[in-house]
Amino acid sequence: MQWLSKLKRNQSDDYYEIYENVSLSSKTSFRLGGPAKVYVCPRSERAVADIMSFSSKEDVPLWVLGGGTNVLVHDDGLPGIVVGTSKLRDITWEIRGSDVYVFVYSGFALPELVAIALKNGWSGLEFAAGIPGTVGGALAGNAGANGRAVGDLVEWVKTVEKNGEVIQWEKNDLVFSYRYSNIYSPDRVISQSCLKLKVSETRKVMDLFMEYKKRRKMQPMKKRTAGCVFKNPSPDMSAGMLLERAGCKGLSKGGACVSNVHANFIEVEGDAKASDVYSLIECCKERVYACFGVSLELEIRLFGGPWVYVE
Ligand SMILES: Cc1cc2nc3c(=O)[nH]c(=O)nc-3n(C[C@H](O)[C@H](O)[C@H](O)COP(=O)(O)OP(=O)(O)OC[C@H]3O[C@@H](n4cnc5c(N)ncnc54)[C@H](O)[C@@H]3O)c2cc1C
Repeated sequence: MQWLSKLKRNQSDDYYEIYENVSLSSKTSFRLGGPAKVYVCPRSERAVADIMSFSSKEDVPLWVLGGGTNVLVHDDGLPGIVVGTSKLRDITWEIRGSDVYVFVYSGFALPELVAIALKNGWSGLEFAAGIPGTVGGALAGNAGANGRAVGDLVEWVKTVEKNGEVIQWEKNDLVFSYRYSNIYSPDRVISQSCLKLKVSETRKVMDLFMEYKKRRKMQPMKKRTAGCVFKNPSPDMSAGMLLERAGCKGLSKGGACVSNVHANFIEVEGDAKASDVYSLIECCKERVYACFGVSLELEIRLFGGPWVYVE
């Protein structure tokens, strides 16, 4: 790996940190998957830009990992650079009249941002009660719940492109819809954003937050999962309902099992493999297709491969 020594030559502790053969099971909510050949933690947007242009010039594959709460990493790991956003954590805000503009880097944890909003009585993020991960991950997939999503709050987003260029996307350039965001691309890192919240009252904000939090009782929040596995095919047809009616609840492969609490969650236990989860996903898709003629689309993202379905 000649490229690794080149990357190391650029290294400086206050710029980006480089680690070799890092187990990604410790960095994902499934706690599964093989190692990243190289795991890099940039501390600034400039460092992200350098890593991106390096990977593009040297033709080294690259993956971006936020909180790892919506990904399944292949058991063989990832043979390139994984950019972890955990050190991109700056946050500031400005209150203008009844609006709160939050300027936040992508590695900042969404639950921490929700906690700040609750404490200050800022409204807008209550829907995110119980959504783990980072702000960057939420923007990449337009994370949402309870009829709202993070895209509703966005004023602008900055991204670092494959060639290292930093682009600011204004509100009008951005398209967000159900679990979709036009800024997401495997070749791009979301570096920072501005979200607009509203000044409100702590009690009101807290009441709504608690109301949404209660709804989480219908989900296996304490298990090793990556949230909903599939997207809902349409607003009035939930993937969970289709999976349940197709008899998927309780199905298992190796250490992976379709949750008995919510059929759109896969829980893993013990020394489960990513390949168990993948085979279970394919098995569920087949069942739903056979019963309803509906092809379910993945919400979680697969990192690495090739993936093989073992029946
Ligand atoms: C218990 C549980 C409950 C959940 N509930 C919900 C829910 O109600 N609603 C919902 O929408 N999701 C839910 N999720 C899924 C997940 O938490 C969200 O999708 C979350 O926003 C993912 O953020 P992350 O930082 O963990 O992203 P990761 O899992 O790290 O990454 C997800 C994808 O985003 C990309 N990405 C991450 N950061 C960046 C970045 N800075 N720049 C570019 N790309 C990036 C990754 O490359 C990957 O493709 C749940 C998950 C769990 C485990």
